Amino acid sequence: MTDHTPGFSTLAIHAGAAPDPTTGARVTPIYQTASYVFEDVDHAAKLFGLEAFGNIYTRINNPTQSVLEERVAALEGGTAALAVASGHAAQLLVFHTLLQPGDEFIASRKLYGGSINQFTNSFKNFGWNVVWADPADISSFEKAVSPRTKAIFIESIANPGGIVTDIAAIAQVAKRAGVPLIVDNTLASPYLVKPIEHGADIVVHSATKFLGGHGNSVGGVIVDGGSFDWSREGRYPMLSEPRPEYNGVVLHKTFGNFAFAIACRVLGLRDLGPAISPFNAFLILTGIETLPLRMQRHSDNAKAVAEFLSNHPKVAWVSYAGLPGDRYHTLQEKYAPKGAGAVFTFGLKGGYDAGIALVKNVELFSHLANVGDTRSLIIHPASTTHRQLTDAQKSAAGAGPDVVRLSVGIEDVADIIADLTQALDQID
Ligand code: PLP
Repeated sequence: MTDHTPGFSTLAIHAGAAPDPTTGARVTPIYQTASYVFEDVDHAAKLFGLEAFGNIYTRINNPTQSVLEERVAALEGGTAALAVASGHAAQLLVFHTLLQPGDEFIASRKLYGGSINQFTNSFKNFGWNVVWADPADISSFEKAVSPRTKAIFIESIANPGGIVTDIAAIAQVAKRAGVPLIVDNTLASPYLVKPIEHGADIVVHSATKFLGGHGNSVGGVIVDGGSFDWSREGRYPMLSEPRPEYNGVVLHKTFGNFAFAIACRVLGLRDLGPAISPFNAFLILTGIETLPLRMQRHSDNAKAVAEFLSNHPKVAWVSYAGLPGDRYHTLQEKYAPKGAGAVFTFGLKGGYDAGIALVKNVELFSHLANVGDTRSLIIHPASTTHRQLTDAQKSAAGAGPDVVRLSVGIEDVADIIADLTQALDQID
């Protein structure tokens, strides 16, 4: 057995976990604790000086959180991970570690709307500037590179879905520019897409979605791919300069191929503070145990629903990479051969009014602003998340008046289709 490499489903249940050393509990307990006793003064000094690993204070680390981190790192094929309070917190800590005021990063325009807001508005307060590029045109990433570029950010399968990004092609651009590629793998999860295998240096997750998978807790994860060389002087000072608060330690020298995860923890998480609660870490860990089963079922159900909708007379178009003939189908076969995920959009011939009527008529689907729940979810972005935009802005954001987004759950697919059938029957 020693040479045997465990498969994905085994790692999803076991990676990082061992029977609790004190109680023998087989499931990782919720360490609902804030702080940890030092063995002696010397032990405390070693922990604070980064000369020993261990628990000090739950804002920086917690034993339940550690198991979650090891598990996600194993599933993504990374060297280490850091779990934090939310997907947005993960993004904040990644960029806090990479950027100085005045620096730039390139991001795909096809991102979750909240990330577009975070990058455009809040990041300005830190002096970090986003430059947008089009994932359908790889040369737009190349053209956006400047001497101030410090990173490239994309989503593997983009929210609101339908788009599979050419990770390897954009990784090449990042390599030529000498910057890390960050991939938000939230919608795919490592079951469908493994960004590090295609050249990503850092992976981020909103664990709120498919990792946790049950719509019951907010969390985020950063995975260090261990591949990026942080040693270039002056480029990434958090990693390449001596840290005064840690006796002059240079993080990339001391921690090698997991220095990025360490930097996010001992600088970003320590100082900015978005810790994950131990209870949420526990719920997300429990969710991950069934990730492979759920993702396969989500994808199979979503494909059947997309096929149903594309043959429906009241539906104008369906954007789902799992459909043969979709413009992203070839990329889906390359990057996500097991399935295209649960989230996609479609357009109603009846436009805005039909969108409003549909979300009113559904009974099994829940009308809410989340994705990645076991339950089927629906939203009409033009009347909700994108309501404040003009029609032109809505269309540019993929949230035109006719657009409906689904996150297809893992209920019986016949029931999901029956619900959409009765809801569509009632609209003009
Ligand atoms: N990334 C993607 C693709 C998302 O869909 C979301 C949330 O919807 C986020 C990041 C942000 O995650 P959180 O809500 O956990 O902060």
